[in-house]
Amino acid sequence: MKKTLILYTGGTLGMRRSASGYVPDADLGSALQRLLEDAVDRLPHYHFQTLEPLLDSADMQPQDWYRIATQIGDNYSQYTGFVVLHGTDTMAYTASALSFALQGLDKPVLVTGSQIPLREMRSDAYNNLIAALLLSGSEDIKEVCLYFSGKLLRGNRAVKVSAGSLDAFASPNYPSLGEVGIQVNVDPNVLLNPGDSPQFQMPEFADGGVALVKLFPGISPFFLSKILEYQPRGLVIETYGTGNAPTNNAAFTAQLEKAAEAGIICVAVSQCLENQVDLGKYATGSALLRSGVVSGLDMTSIACYAKLNHLLAMRYSAAEIKVLVGTSLCGECTPLHH
Ligand code: ASP
Repeated sequence: MKKTLILYTGGTLGMRRSASGYVPDADLGSALQRLLEDAVDRLPHYHFQTLEPLLDSADMQPQDWYRIATQIGDNYSQYTGFVVLHGTDTMAYTASALSFALQGLDKPVLVTGSQIPLREMRSDAYNNLIAALLLSGSEDIKEVCLYFSGKLLRGNRAVKVSAGSLDAFASPNYPSLGEVGIQVNVDPNVLLNPGDSPQFQMPEFADGGVALVKLFPGISPFFLSKILEYQPRGLVIETYGTGNAPTNNAAFTAQLEKAAEAGIICVAVSQCLENQVDLGKYATGSALLRSGVVSGLDMTSIACYAKLNHLLAMRYSAAEIKVLVGTSLCGECTPLHH
């Protein structure tokens, strides 16, 4: 029998109005039960759990990814699928982090939420939740997905693209895994096909392990030096285009070399949402390569940030991490083809 665990972590879906704006509401379980009453025969059987403390996802930390992953891991054998109800702001970060923690997953994990609270008129919560519940009963999906507004996306390829539209997520660098319209269509050709047994990796995250910086015209080496002074163990750099940076400024590359010498793993991703980093293509990119920066290929900066956090928390050596960054662990990147 199909049995889904719904994990409520917070986010707009379950929020209520307060004097200071929307806040998470602990009493979502009974509201959900009333709402799903009519459809219950056609949905997978479900249990509802609240993960305390309920959070606006803007308040989530890497430690919270660990709480969610552990809750799924601890209940893994008792359910055939999982739905994580989450705020949209950092939903793509959590979905990415879960994909690295739950490697080799052989059941569906659907992360979803809504732009309008369940209790309000015109809420998108019902549609998102019903579709996620239906998809959690699929036997073809064996990965962490983000479901939103008719789109089934790979969790570690998703980005939030709209703060106002109900169609809030996209996966610019990887095809949609499926669509929910009049029909429910999942595309088997683009789904992840894991090996035969789950290889979960649930490290506890250390605070402030990884920093994320976006390049901008005028960025000063001093600015970079201040970030490095904070001593992250990893640094994700959102570079231009195919992986370019203002490298004719020797002081800038010197900072990156200093970071490499200090054992800080620097990974370049692109500010562009499509295509991938190729550090050998331009002189401005190959200078990064010489400074010890590794390519994050076509990963979103979100997935790269979650992956670097994960690899560091797993205590891999620097050499191992540099190889693993460019290896697809759960469909988050595509190896470079020249
Ligand atoms: N601030 C909210 C959150 O991410 C927004 C949402 O859920 O849509 O938790």
